[in-house]
Amino acid sequence: MSKTVLYPGSFDPFTKGHESIVQKALLLFDKLVIGIGKNSEKKGYFTLESRINHLEHLYKDEKRVQILSYEGLTIDLCSKKNINFLLRGLRNNKDFDYEYPISMHNKLLNDNVETIFLCSDLNVSPFQSNIIREIHKSGGNIDVFVSQSSLLRID
Ligand code: ADP
Repeated sequence: MSKTVLYPGSFDPFTKGHESIVQKALLLFDKLVIGIGKNSEKKGYFTLESRINHLEHLYKDEKRVQILSYEGLTIDLCSKKNINFLLRGLRNNKDFDYEYPISMHNKLLNDNVETIFLCSDLNVSPFQSNIIREIHKSGGNIDVFVSQSSLLRID
């Protein structure tokens, strides 16, 4: 049976750290859906359209990767799409402390969905979208952290 995993996040922006997680997950799963969570109260720094476009370009040759955006509970998206695995990336033990209880709450909401944790490669694991946004806001070059960053737009 073909296995699909959902990788949810705000991906504002999608960094080389996220890329590392996707690469590793593609060794384990047949299909990977990147879900950009939309938050009605928080617009995000890079426009949603450009974040989607950025990801579509990055994975244009990888037919096993699908990009979508969604609102509401991630676990509801899993049910809607018939997905049984959720993917989260870990940089350090702080990420794990934050992610573990969320995964357990999700498990109680839907026992059919298992959260899988993967660690990114060491050279990209310190990358953090919030720091990268600050660098960009101040006019810094973010190419070291984000592939094809020129595709990203701000309003
Ligand atoms: P959030 O889901 O909190 O909005 P992000 O969109 O930044 O966070 O990230 C989505 C997922 O990717 C989360 O599981 C996060 O821990 C993970 N992640 C972010 N940056 C890295 C990185 N450099 N290495 C590994 N995992 C990462």
